[in-house]
Amino acid sequence: MEFKTIIEPFKIKSVEPITMSTEAQRVEYLSNAYYNPFLLRSREVIIDMLTDSGTSAMSSEQWSGIMRGDESYAGAASWERLQYEIQDLTGYPYILPTHQGRAAEHILYSYLGGKGKVFISNTHFDTTRANIEFNGAQAIDIPTPEAKNRESEYPFKGNMDVTRLDELITSHGVQNIGAVILTVTNNSGGGQPVSMQNAKDVAAICRKHGVRFIIDCCRIAENAYFIHHFEEEYKHVPYRQIAQQMFSLADGAIMSAKKDALVNMGGFLALRDAQLAEACTSLLIINEGFSTYGGLSGRDMEAIAIGLREVFDADYLNYRIKSTQYLGEHIRAKGVPVIYPIGGHAVYVDAGQLYPHIPVEQYPGQALVCELYKIGGVRAVEIGSVMFGKYDDKGKLIPAPVELVRLAIPRRVYTQSHIDYVIEVFDEAMKNAANTRGLKITKEPKFLRHFTAHFEPLK
Ligand SMILES: *Cc1c(COP(=O)(O)O)cnc(C)c1O
Repeated sequence: MEFKTIIEPFKIKSVEPITMSTEAQRVEYLSNAYYNPFLLRSREVIIDMLTDSGTSAMSSEQWSGIMRGDESYAGAASWERLQYEIQDLTGYPYILPTHQGRAAEHILYSYLGGKGKVFISNTHFDTTRANIEFNGAQAIDIPTPEAKNRESEYPFKGNMDVTRLDELITSHGVQNIGAVILTVTNNSGGGQPVSMQNAKDVAAICRKHGVRFIIDCCRIAENAYFIHHFEEEYKHVPYRQIAQQMFSLADGAIMSAKKDALVNMGGFLALRDAQLAEACTSLLIINEGFSTYGGLSGRDMEAIAIGLREVFDADYLNYRIKSTQYLGEHIRAKGVPVIYPIGGHAVYVDAGQLYPHIPVEQYPGQALVCELYKIGGVRAVEIGSVMFGKYDDKGKLIPAPVELVRLAIPRRVYTQSHIDYVIEVFDEAMKNAANTRGLKITKEPKFLRHFTAHFEPLK
């Protein structure tokens, strides 16, 4: 029999208290934080859905690994273990450990990039784009057209538009392509998955032109869940094997271990090509550390090696994705407009649609983020015009295409009752929707304003 209640496939061995607060206290905390949840202290938050990055709970096995960590400068046993684990998973022979994902991006994309080069992706994650553009190259996003169709229930809205890919490689010239990057799942595109068929099509086009194909594999285990359940051919293939097949299509991979490796810090670059690996290893030693630890402690390498195994556990992945979907489906059933189908690591709410009376200049996404915090101490993040808005010459706001709010779910951290609580918070937010007001920005820096901007609620 299939039970309705999702239970966490783990028991709790160590607990971290949550500081509870009253609405009156939160009103004060929010005002002290200038209505920007990035400026709240973590002890002022009850359920923290700011990000799934580096916020995972480690297992007792991982904590044991932390004690076993070998901190030798060269040739540490923990390095051997990590190297073996990544080679076995990816099939790539050359492994470069880094302190997080963006360090691996910096190494690879500064080497492959530079002025005149072009990178093409389903959607570049913001650190990926920054690393490419910082070196003078161009980053082009070509998400599948299905991604724009809000009503469609197409399960792989994270796909790349392969027709455009072929055209772009031809029009820019093969020699100018730095790499084609498939981000799985497509984080900036709504955490939506990429199908194996799409990865195969991308690989075939790259092979035809002789262009390098890299997988940004931060959430490849979560992606494998969707392939297993929504691509007929793979319904009997275990999650880890699905990931292995996907890696086999590409020339290399970059990972932020802060996502699907279930650790708080770490990353790596894995490559098939010896010459490229050698060049990147020089950059690794200059920027990060010696090749057998890169930017990591021995204990961190142990924890990543173990996490990379645990994340493919079928019970874990089923719980992980079902729990994310549970949140998304329940608030959707209450009339909250969400990006659909629900992706792997987060639920995205369309605040512009929820608050049609709040103009974009008054930041409907920020209004919702403040509401969720005030009502229940839930911290979410605006990814609309506060994060991506720009000003024109006359100082008028050029808004983001959509006013989204992201509820990212840390791995193995919250229980079903925590999720039920968040759903209840939405009940209250819906009741107040018509009376919810927007905000104005009172202070902002030139770059990445969402982190530090100050706001004031409008009357
Ligand atoms: C988080 C992330 C990165 C960057 O990794 P960091 O560890 O934060 O430096 C790159 N790509 C994707 C898709 C990510 O989600």
